[in-house]
Amino acid sequence: MQPVIVWLRQDFRLSDNPALTCAARSGRPVVPLYLLDDETPGGRQAGGASRWWLHKSLEHLSAEFSKHRVKLILRRGAAKPVIRALAREIDAVGVYWNRCYEPYALRGDAGIVRMLNIERIEAKSFNASLLFEPHAVKNKSGRPFKVFTPFWRNIRAREVSAPLRAPCKLHGFSQHIDSDDLGDWKLLPTKPDWAGGLRKTWKPGEAGGKKRLTSFLRAINSYTKGRDRLDEDGTSRLSPHLHFGEVSARQIWHAVKVHHHTAAADKFLSELAWREFCHHLLFNNPAMPRDPLDKRFSHFPWSRSTKALTAWTKGQTGVPMVDAGMRQLWTTGWMHNRVRMIAASFLIKHLAIRWQKGEEWFWDTLIDADLANNSANWQWVAGCGADAAPFFRIFNPVLQGKKFDPEGGYVRKWVPEIAKLPDKYLHNPWEAPAEVLKKADVILGETYPEPLVDLAKARDHALAAFRALPRSA
Ligand code: FAD
Repeated sequence: MQPVIVWLRQDFRLSDNPALTCAARSGRPVVPLYLLDDETPGGRQAGGASRWWLHKSLEHLSAEFSKHRVKLILRRGAAKPVIRALAREIDAVGVYWNRCYEPYALRGDAGIVRMLNIERIEAKSFNASLLFEPHAVKNKSGRPFKVFTPFWRNIRAREVSAPLRAPCKLHGFSQHIDSDDLGDWKLLPTKPDWAGGLRKTWKPGEAGGKKRLTSFLRAINSYTKGRDRLDEDGTSRLSPHLHFGEVSARQIWHAVKVHHHTAAADKFLSELAWREFCHHLLFNNPAMPRDPLDKRFSHFPWSRSTKALTAWTKGQTGVPMVDAGMRQLWTTGWMHNRVRMIAASFLIKHLAIRWQKGEEWFWDTLIDADLANNSANWQWVAGCGADAAPFFRIFNPVLQGKKFDPEGGYVRKWVPEIAKLPDKYLHNPWEAPAEVLKKADVILGETYPEPLVDLAKARDHALAAFRALPRSA
C-alpha cells in the first residue's frame, strides 16, 4: 500500500497529534519524517540549547515509534525539495503535518502545499500546538487583540477541543528508506561539552513531559504563591516540553480543567494563555522578533558597549539577582520568569542595550527558546510591545531580590562567592560595610565584580532618554 508521510516539527508526541492520528486512521503505512532545515531562507536556526533538546527528544521519539515497528526518518535540507524527493522515492499518497505559526513556517507551508498539489499528493495540515488558531481569535470589531485581559476573557469562555489519544496501531512501511544518523547532525556540544547541567535538569521527550505535568498538577494549588518564589520549584517547568510539542496545550488545559477548579489553577491557565497571546501577536506582527511594535523605540539612543553585554551574558554584572539568573540560564538552559524580567529590564534599562541583543542571547541559551514567546516578552519588558509594561517601570533588582528571594536561597545557589554575606547585603553587596565584606570573604572587584552601573543614576539616564523620544514614530 502507498504510504503517508507525517512531517514532524514541534509536535514530538504520539498522543494528541492530529496529523499522526489522521495518517493512522487512513490504514496506510506511516512514514514519520523529521527534517533539519537550516537552509530555507528566512528561517531562524535553532540555538545551541535547543539543539541539545532536539537531539534528546528525537532519540526519545524514535524509540517510541520503534515500539510500533515504525522507523522515524531523518533527513537534512530545505523542507520543500526534501519532502518532494522522499514522497517521490516512496510513492507517498499524502503528506500530513501539524502547523507551526512562525511567519517563515507559514510561508514555507504555502509553498509545500503548492508543490504537493502539482505532484498530485494529498496535503493535510492541522492545529496541534495552540488552543485556538491565531486567526480565529478576534475582538468585537473583528480585529486581532492587542491587550491580554480581553484576549484571555475571550478564549477562557470558549470550548477547547478534547485532546486525542495516541493511535493504538500504526503500520510501518516495509520498504527500506535511507535515514540520516542523528549523531552525524552534531546537535550535541562536544568541545567543550557545556550540557552537563542540562542533562542533570531535564528529561526531554513525551514521557518526561507527561511526568512533569503529573507532578506539577499535584502541587498546582500552591501556584499563585509559589510561582513568584525564586528559591522554590513553584512553576510547572513545562515550557520546553510545550515548545517541542512533547505535551500539547490542549492536554494541559484539559488535565487542569477536569480536576482543578481553584483560583491557582485559573492563574496557571492564564499563563498558558500568555503563550497563546504571544503566538497571536507574532501571527499578526511577523516582524516582531526584529522591530519594536512601538516604532518610537527605533529612535532610542542605545549603548553599544560590548563589555557590558558580555558581563551580562556571563552573569558578571556585580548585581547578584541579575547574575544569579544569567548563571541559572547558562547552566540549566532555563530561568525563572521573574528573573527573566529582572535580567531583561537590567539589560535594556540600566545598561541601555537594545532588547534584540538580549533576545538573541536567550534564543541561543534557553531550552524553551520560542520565537513568539521570546520576542513578545522582550518587547513587553522593553515597553515597546503590545500591552507592554510601561518603559518607566524599571525593575529594581535589589528590591526584587529582597521580595522574591527573601532568605537568599536563590542567589546563594547561583552566586556562591557572596553566599556568606548576611541577607541584608546579599542583594546589594556594594552597600555592605568593609568589615561585613571581609567577614564574608568578599573583595569587590576581585572575588565578585563591582556593579557595572550605579542603579539610581542608570535609571535616571534611561528615563531621560525615554522622555526625549518623539511622541510618535
Ligand atoms: P509556568 O509558570 O508553569 O507557566 C506555564 C506555561 O505558560 C509555560 O510553560 C509557558 O508556556 C506559558 N507561559 C508562562 N508565562 C509566559 C509568558 N510570560 N509568556 C508566554 N508564555 C508564558 N517562554 C518560552 O516558552 N520561551 C521563551 O523563549 C521565553 N522567553 C522569555 C523572555 C523573557 C524576557 C521573558 C520575561 C519571558 C520569556 N518566556 C519565554 C516566558 C516565561 O518566562 C516562560 O514561559 C516560563 O518561565 C516558563 O516556565 P514554566 O513552564 O515553569 O512556566
